[in-house]
Amino acid sequence: MPLPDGFDRETFIARLRSEHARILPPTVEFAVENGWLQLIADRLRDAETILEKHGWIYHAVVRQIKEKFGELRVYIRPRVEDESYPDELAQEMEGLRRVTADSSAHTCEICGDDAEIGNFGGYYQCLCPKHSEQRAAWIAGGRKGDVFHD
Ligand SMILES: [Zn+2]
Repeated sequence: MPLPDGFDRETFIARLRSEHARILPPTVEFAVENGWLQLIADRLRDAETILEKHGWIYHAVVRQIKEKFGELRVYIRPRVEDESYPDELAQEMEGLRRVTADSSAHTCEICGDDAEIGNFGGYYQCLCPKHSEQRAAWIAGGRKGDVFHD
């Protein structure tokens, strides 16, 4: 889904931080572009629902939010490093992980439009036709200036 007009990254992230403070430490960075922020919001909401159902809401924590191989990764783990989720909870969390990965593989990381993962000079990124064109042109032009522009 494309971003709404007037979308503001800082406001959106601040809201997520306050709504999901139970599992989202202030030190965790949103190390992805704006097009994926809604997928992160969905993931945090669904994860909290499941964790709450299993009585784990205060025992799990978001460790990292990042892109890997062109897909969005949101790592949510037990707070205690060597603890692991009970089987049923682990399966439900794995289901959420898959939904996030699959959705991000069809969502432009920059703008949220329909997209696919491409290889840009050895680096994988999920981009819509417009943004993949811009990225390819930026690489062809010697990687000068801003990659993405309107
Ligand atoms: Zn795009």
